[in-house]
Amino acid sequence: MSLPPSLSRPEAVSDERVAALAAELAASHPGIALLAGAADLTRLSRDFHDYSPVLQQQLEGRRAQLAVRVHTVEQVMAVAGACARHGVPLTPRGAGTGNYGQCVPLAGGVVLDLTGLNRLRVIDPLSGVVEAEAGALLGDLEAQLRPAGRSLRLLPSTWRTASLGGFIAGGSGGIGSLRWGFLRDPGNLLGLEIVTVEPSPRRLRFDAAGSAPLNHAYGTNGILTAVRLATAEAVTWQQLVVDFADGDAALAAVGALPATALLLQSLTLLEAPIAAALPSPPGCPAPEPGAHRLLLLAAPDSLEVLPHWLEERGGRLRWQAPEGDGRAMPLRELGWNHTTLHWRARHQGWTYLQMLLPRPETPLIAAVRERWGHDVLWHLEAVRQDGATRLAALPLVRWRGAGDLAELMEQCRSLGAVIFNPHVLTVEDGGLGVIDADQVAAKAAHDPAGLLNPGKLRGWDER
Ligand SMILES: Cc1cc2nc3c(=O)[nH]c(=O)nc-3n(C[C@H](O)[C@H](O)[C@H](O)COP(=O)(O)OP(=O)(O)OC[C@H]3O[C@@H](n4cnc5c(N)ncnc54)[C@H](O)[C@@H]3O)c2cc1C
Repeated sequence: MSLPPSLSRPEAVSDERVAALAAELAASHPGIALLAGAADLTRLSRDFHDYSPVLQQQLEGRRAQLAVRVHTVEQVMAVAGACARHGVPLTPRGAGTGNYGQCVPLAGGVVLDLTGLNRLRVIDPLSGVVEAEAGALLGDLEAQLRPAGRSLRLLPSTWRTASLGGFIAGGSGGIGSLRWGFLRDPGNLLGLEIVTVEPSPRRLRFDAAGSAPLNHAYGTNGILTAVRLATAEAVTWQQLVVDFADGDAALAAVGALPATALLLQSLTLLEAPIAAALPSPPGCPAPEPGAHRLLLLAAPDSLEVLPHWLEERGGRLRWQAPEGDGRAMPLRELGWNHTTLHWRARHQGWTYLQMLLPRPETPLIAAVRERWGHDVLWHLEAVRQDGATRLAALPLVRWRGAGDLAELMEQCRSLGAVIFNPHVLTVEDGGLGVIDADQVAAKAAHDPAGLLNPGKLRGWDER
């Protein structure tokens, strides 16, 4: 498979130029860690794009020439300035858990590991608004918010390992999306601090509106150094596992539950073969053969109503337990792309898709089953989209080649689904497919030489 033109474009720079940059940084900022060993460079140039055979092939061998680990905003500015002066590409990196090859450097250059920049700056005791440095791990931030009775509104299922900056720059939503929608919905992200990539870098602060163009831009238009977020009141969520013998009854329950007055944090539906393949939390029985499985995070006060409500609709409560601090497999690590992770651990020849299903969902699901049989298996997540409850799908797809994948996506699109294609490298193609002029303008303002994560913002390459 040859690379599309926008991918082959980013120019690699010479090793001599990168060595000169490294020498300058070592002399001026001895506290900055410079990693140039092959093992470090390979490890820090990777993410989880191997869920996509398409990306795996396209990104083969792409590697940084230097990795730099920073702990302070001043150090970020030093690296940004050095890259600008030497004309070296710079790819920011959090924990490297992205699925789209977002932090794989297409043009080599420097990978900037920001996980050392991880201090909690402030939690406002009245509003609960939190500001933390971008490299903070979401799990650590959650632990720091707890004593204040607060919790992050949205978390990826990689909440233990992913960074705050990586979630804003590369993620979209996940646990909590049933209540709070997605990161780009107004009210979730309240502000950003960034560093520009210029010979004399600037440290800038933006309010919510000013931050929008940098939200989900793959770090192509500014290095995030701190993030301000709205938070939610902390709840000790109850985990419920409910099995349904009948798939239509399960789908009907998933459609009806968010319309109740029950406070829910997440609602996942796994088709029977997926349910059978996934691990169960300790003490939770495996599903009966052929049973579809609902995974629920619900507020404690819902327990008086939920079991009966589910039973009336054909559901059987198999297990319940409060979320704890233990490291036993929590339900939040079985949904979203963790479903894909667990499935692929057993079935390597499979990949996945991401889409927002049309309403009603059944005609699309039936048409896909008719065309592809059990080579497409359904994993659904209830979400809030533009104020209404909708079903997102992350179906598991047996890999039958790029042509069949394209046909499947086209079929789903023609039946009303919005596809978020996880087999492409640019911000635009993985999202709604359109160029966001504000994202491109932000890149022009903060990265005029186009050094940040080259090749990932199609609007910049096509301007
Ligand atoms: C099993 C699994 C489950 C997942 N579940 C979810 C999910 O539920 N929801 C979801 O949204 N995603 C999910 N993801 C994708 C990913 O884990 C999240 O989006 C995560 O928040 C990314 O954070 P990170 O620190 O790993 O970012 P990275 O992978 O390090 O980076 C992601 C992007 O952000 C950029 N970036 C990182 N830090 C900065 C910074 N400080 N400034 C500017 N740019 C920066 C990088 O250049 C890259 O483009 C999942 C992935 C896996 C493997």
